[in-house]
Amino acid sequence: MAVLLTPFLVLSVIGLVLSVIAHTAALIGLPQPLGPAAWGLHIGIFVVWLPAVIVSNRLVGDFKRKDFWKAALRGCPDWMRCLTYGFFGYAVVNFLLFMAAAPPKGAGGGANAPPEVFRGFSGHWMAFYSAAAAILYSALAVSRSDPARRCPNGHPVPPSASFCEACGASIAEQDAAGPWSADAEPGAAPDRG
Ligand SMILES: [Zn+2]
Repeated sequence: MAVLLTPFLVLSVIGLVLSVIAHTAALIGLPQPLGPAAWGLHIGIFVVWLPAVIVSNRLVGDFKRKDFWKAALRGCPDWMRCLTYGFFGYAVVNFLLFMAAAPPKGAGGGANAPPEVFRGFSGHWMAFYSAAAAILYSALAVSRSDPARRCPNGHPVPPSASFCEACGASIAEQDAAGPWSADAEPGAAPDRG
């Protein structure tokens, strides 16, 4: 599982970084640092989005559909989840601004597109790369933690369960936070002098 997902996670992160660079350049009116090759980012989304959709279906599994994103991103640390939601919110605002500004006609959307066009598209690139990266990261984290999820009496429990089906014991919520939550508190060690 990890062997298959890690390359796509790396690609998603690279795509996200390049999208942020493309968007920043467009935002301040500079030509694209990658030139026409920036459109490759548009195609790259499909490369990482397909595996992301496949693993998100596995992640959601027996969760309710309305909890889709909560379930799909349950292996992510909070900052990663916030960042992904933030990129999506920003993409919506960015796209509305893009539509309102109506890019100059005749400039085209191809290789010689003006910064405004790249600005409009790159908002969505960032959102989709960050979501793909978060889902793939979540899948990697969950694949380590889910098999180990057990009730206080040691019965294995499915990932969405709040109570053990065998003995009825409630499942500690800390299990759902991800495998690295335990060492996520740097500097919290007591002062021993
Ligand atoms: Zn039990």
